[in-house]
Amino acid sequence: MCEMAYVAKCLCGKMVMACVDNPAHKKDTAIEVAASIKAGYAVSRVTVEEVRAMPFCENHGNCEEPTP
Ligand SMILES: [Zn+2]
Ligand SMILES: [Zn+2]
Repeated sequence: MCEMAYVAKCLCGKMVMACVDNPAHKKDTAIEVAASIKAGYAVSRVTVEEVRAMPFCENHGNCEEPTP
């Protein structure tokens, strides 16, 4: 069985929030996800394994959209 998590990515494509989808904390997870969406981040549901492989945004606040 693989654990699921929610991640929020900012415009640079790196994650700014990761939250394990724990049924025991459903309410907290929903609040976190809603706040991230409201802040304009792209939220997606991924496996915890995928979260571990994702780079975290280190200079958040100075992010720029990656140039194509
Ligand atoms: Zn960034
Ligand atoms: Zn950022």
